[in-house]
Amino acid sequence: MELMTNEQYNFKFNPSACEECGGKCCTGESGYIWTKYEEIESISKFLNLTIEEFATTYLRKVKHRYSLIEKQLEEDNFACIFFDESKKRCSIYPVRPSQCRTFPFWEQFKNNEEEVRKECIGII
Ligand code: SF4
Repeated sequence: MELMTNEQYNFKFNPSACEECGGKCCTGESGYIWTKYEEIESISKFLNLTIEEFATTYLRKVKHRYSLIEKQLEEDNFACIFFDESKKRCSIYPVRPSQCRTFPFWEQFKNNEEEVRKECIGII
């Protein structure tokens, strides 16, 4: 598979590592999975839910933004509500939020390759 690059980052990403990893970027410490309105629309449609049903079941409001909710796996281990634990992958992959699509090219990792390496075995 082709490596993903971003000219502003010193590392490259090998997406074929995802299979072996089992979803470290979708699990771990509790965090936010920010979801924009257009994404909420697409995910609702994908799940055959109205926006209202989807929002009530899967979103939490954080100030003026929305995040997907999480499920607790163990004491210090959380997963995105859409992480399929048996298949070890995203169950809404085709419509996952842009935060998920742009991983590992996140601002916080731009000058912190060490940090992203801890989380992702696909970093090269
Ligand atoms: S939406 Fe999918 S890719 Fe994004 S955190 Fe949840 S399980 Fe992972």
